[in-house]
Amino acid sequence: MANRFPGAGGRSYLAIPGPSVIPDAVLQAMHRAAPNIYAGELIDMMPGLVAGLKGVARTDGHVAIYIGNGHAAWEAALANVIAPGDAVLVPATGRFGHGWADMAEGLGAEVAVLDFGKSGPWDEDRIADALRADTGHRIKAVLAVHVDTSSSVRNDIAGLRRLLDDLGHPALLMADCIASLGCDRFEMDAWGVDVMVTGCQKGLMVPPGMAFVFFNARAAKVRAKMPRVSRYWDWTPRAEPTEFWEYFDGTAPTHHLYGLRTALGMIADEGIEAVWDRHERLARAIWAACDVWAEEGPLRLNVADAAHRSRAVTSLRIGAPHGTELRAWVEGQLGLTLGIGLGMAPPSDPAWHGFFRLGHMGHVNGQMVLGMLGGIEAGLTAIGVPHGRGAVDAAARVIAGGV
Ligand SMILES: *Cc1c(COP(=O)(O)O)cnc(C)c1O
Repeated sequence: MANRFPGAGGRSYLAIPGPSVIPDAVLQAMHRAAPNIYAGELIDMMPGLVAGLKGVARTDGHVAIYIGNGHAAWEAALANVIAPGDAVLVPATGRFGHGWADMAEGLGAEVAVLDFGKSGPWDEDRIADALRADTGHRIKAVLAVHVDTSSSVRNDIAGLRRLLDDLGHPALLMADCIASLGCDRFEMDAWGVDVMVTGCQKGLMVPPGMAFVFFNARAAKVRAKMPRVSRYWDWTPRAEPTEFWEYFDGTAPTHHLYGLRTALGMIADEGIEAVWDRHERLARAIWAACDVWAEEGPLRLNVADAAHRSRAVTSLRIGAPHGTELRAWVEGQLGLTLGIGLGMAPPSDPAWHGFFRLGHMGHVNGQMVLGMLGGIEAGLTAIGVPHGRGAVDAAARVIAGGV
């Protein structure tokens, strides 16, 4: 009798857009006895970690580290510069802009959301109109998601800085790079970003549990003028601690720090430019495969314009119930887990089953992407969804460098 669960053999592959694949070297670095938090290696390695993080973010500014996830990073950043009653503007291109907006609202901010739908970038003209209308410069910050992980839209953060400068608007530019840092090109200082938030569990390849808030001198000045900031979220002592415990306002995330040291070392060894190039090449291979599948049948890339696609996550439409069927088949039969469609339809809507996403962030290479694409090809065939032929071949040619 045929093995009903062949996916149970071999190594499984979590190809969802976060948490991402954890390198064995990171896992091994974390597998150790509990370290002393009062003296020794853990304390000595902090300056190197801070330098490594700033290198990945391309900034000479500051970084505060929190025990938390991406939502914690959102709140931490807002808590330092947004007081109740302050106004923020949020251009949303998928679910995550709304999430950050919601967090700001919970902190008492006056929030204006510009909704740009779920399959394309923001429109600078509409953002400009909103900023121009703010003649009193009440808008204190623009909360901008670089890569929206639900839609896989990538926005032009540097363009938004130019817009603010051209209009002479003093709002802080705050960027969510949770899905993009260490995957898509991002240059905090060169792009004029004042505050950037990220987590450790996507491009940084560490299990979920650490959040990072980067900020520049401009943002530090805004922080200094805040009437009060929660002691726990305050980024100042975390970024400029006089004692080790202040980095985390309490016990350090001991094992995560060892994992992070290894992950940052891997990124430094490869070189951040090479890391971006690798993600670019692999994303192009995935798009090439998707374009071929789309030649026949219902599968479509969510974002039409390649310039505005993430290099770390790809959102796809395939029509209900094929998305859910495909994910179930490749997980059960191949040990390959694909991402659910997030925010494209409510979970209670049958249309929800028509979306899925591919995570290709962090610890990924060509054989993994080809395996994932081959797995999808098998799945499409098995569940009987029509699709163009030659997709994996098209991807292989991109990876080989011939395209
Ligand atoms: C993952 C993600 C978040 C949320 O992070 P959590 O760790 O799930 O709280 C926020 N923004 C973006 C762009 C993300 O990709």
